[in-house]
Amino acid sequence: RSRAVMETGGSKKVLFKDVAGLQEEKEELEEVVDFLKNPNMYTSLGARIPKGILLVGPPGTGKTLLAKAVAGEAGVPFFSISGSNFVEMFVGVGASRVRDLFEQAKRNAPCIIFIDEIDAVARRRGTGLGGGHDEREQTLNQMLVEMDGFGVNEGIIVMAATNRVDILDPAILRPGRFDRKVAVGRPDVKGREEILKVHTKNKPLGSDVNLRRVAQTTAGFTGADLENLMNEAAINAAKSKQGYISQRDIEQSFVKVGIGAEKHSKVIS
Ligand code: ATP
Repeated sequence: RSRAVMETGGSKKVLFKDVAGLQEEKEELEEVVDFLKNPNMYTSLGARIPKGILLVGPPGTGKTLLAKAVAGEAGVPFFSISGSNFVEMFVGVGASRVRDLFEQAKRNAPCIIFIDEIDAVARRRGTGLGGGHDEREQTLNQMLVEMDGFGVNEGIIVMAATNRVDILDPAILRPGRFDRKVAVGRPDVKGREEILKVHTKNKPLGSDVNLRRVAQTTAGFTGADLENLMNEAAINAAKSKQGYISQRDIEQSFVKVGIGAEKHSKVIS
């Protein structure tokens, strides 16, 4: 019924090995995987697993990928929606979507609910710039009602992503709601090399390609930037009809992607 809710089936299953360089983050989420696989074990020992986990970090650092990997590792369904999809023009639509989402999750527990851009809904109340204000508050209130409404060990874990934890309504961070935060940072040089390895796995590389060197020259790049870089390099290589990606193809792609492109246009203007 609610078109915004998407269940990603088993065909495109993401695993922790597909998430490169976020070792600590993966370790923190390991217990969530374990809980989803075997909620009864936790319940019988009186252990309480957090209901809500907030992934905090800049865009493109792998928050969505990480949430999908938790579902993939546990072998449970993944229901995802973006916070910006909740906030509709008509009052009441957002709240009913929240209701639908949780209903669907309850029928399919154990499972993961993933809310991307939660700040679009859960911005601190009273900071709206006019329109859509009531609608957002209603949606947020419904989300709080739903989160309070299911039991701790019902087998539903709500994961949400934001890059603006500072603007979130403190109500969503209370115990029993999103009371656990996992910081997802930009990758360091080693992380970047690992991400480059993941994204060149099925790309033929020339013998001159040195991924460590690429990692060293991409400080500040996110996983999404690196994926983009290697894709541009593959396009460059295809144009030159050489059948493999050379170090030069990679270097020429720098200007096209993210940070490189930004710097370039600043120099020009
Ligand atoms: P946003 O906040 O913009 O939604 P995000 O943090 O959720 O961003 P993802 O959507 O998970 O980022 O990442 C985008 C893409 O970048 C991924 O599909 C993946 O291809 C690549 N990527 C990002 N981080 C990693 C990583 N750590 N390992 C491998 N690939 C990554």
